[in-house]
Amino acid sequence: MAKEGQPVIFLDHASTTPVDAMIREEIARLMALPMNASSVHVPGQKARALLEESRAETAAILAVSPGEIVFLSSATEANNLALRGIAEVWRRQGRRLRVLTSDLEHSCIRETTADLASRGLADVFAMPVTPGGRAQLPETSDGVDLLCLMAAQNETGVLQDLAGATRLRRAGGGLWLCDVTQFFGAAPVRIADLGADLVSMSSHKVYGPPGVGLLAGPGVMRLLPMITGGPQEGDLRAGTQPVALIRGFAMALRQAEDRREARNQHLRNLESVFLRRLADLGVAHEVNGGAADARLPGFLSLRIPGLDGADAVVALDGRGFAVSSGAACATGVMEASPALRAMFPGDEARAGGAVRITPGAATTVADMLALADSLAELGRRVSTK
Ligand code: PLP
Repeated sequence: MAKEGQPVIFLDHASTTPVDAMIREEIARLMALPMNASSVHVPGQKARALLEESRAETAAILAVSPGEIVFLSSATEANNLALRGIAEVWRRQGRRLRVLTSDLEHSCIRETTADLASRGLADVFAMPVTPGGRAQLPETSDGVDLLCLMAAQNETGVLQDLAGATRLRRAGGGLWLCDVTQFFGAAPVRIADLGADLVSMSSHKVYGPPGVGLLAGPGVMRLLPMITGGPQEGDLRAGTQPVALIRGFAMALRQAEDRREARNQHLRNLESVFLRRLADLGVAHEVNGGAADARLPGFLSLRIPGLDGADAVVALDGRGFAVSSGAACATGVMEASPALRAMFPGDEARAGGAVRITPGAATTVADMLALADSLAELGRRVSTK
């Protein structure tokens, strides 16, 4: 644990981003107002107008129609609604949903598809994963009802084969659910061009407030709801909308569009400064996912031979750096994630060695150099053990 009062250098923006100051102010202002967008009185009408304005802005950014956007609590909920909503349609037709996915997908997709399979609602097929961290698409998607291919992987930042998925979809394959949660900050998403049926994303990864996400695309028209009990969000997600958070989300998407190029350049520069320092210090290391242009800008999953990822995270935390590993606690023991194990099958040391470093808009060159120095020190310790 970092010591009380010690400044923390936050290098875990893939897990969450701080809310932008201007957005925070706007949310605070709106939170003071009574805003139930379903109420008929004047404050309710104002809330509805703001909600629909936010929806229209979001739709324009994502190149879909406003009716093809469902606001909900998170990307986790978006992916649940997509998977369970389609599976329910198929179930009512007496069919099991045939899903093609991979170990690279976020746990909210992996675990939800596994749950559907365990209840006899889906048959799940896995795409192979390359050592470079890409899911390998099949030649054709005949016999697939739903393809789950994310845009960029959340542990390595590796960009997936979106062009291949667009081709498959255009060739008449099944529906395509594309999770762009990590991707959107780095690259625009125009759903009409992408050809995805459903796109999921989250506000708190793009300097917007936590507690809001969305599912968008023509496929929303085909879903059945998971949460019932009200007409909100086109009958697809009952419950009073958090208008202030949705407003903040729409603002964050706008900012991401406007600031993308500058941010990407900043992150690329931080990455190269950091890797150069590691090299200058003679620290042996491997970047999971390979070359910079195969990954999101500044998104580093690194391994220093001999250094365990989870141990490194704890040691760096003690030195005031917030980073993460690719490991999670499974039945009391730390285990490398399915994504990393799929990339390095049988090589637990490689999979378990990942340290994820994701700088953000406010990260400085000095932060990255300080991290490289601390990693070098940890690397020296394990090499002299
Ligand atoms: N999908 C991806 C690719 C993610 O990286 C995350 C969060 O890390 C999620 C989904 C879940 O997002 P949320 O925190 O909004 O539930």
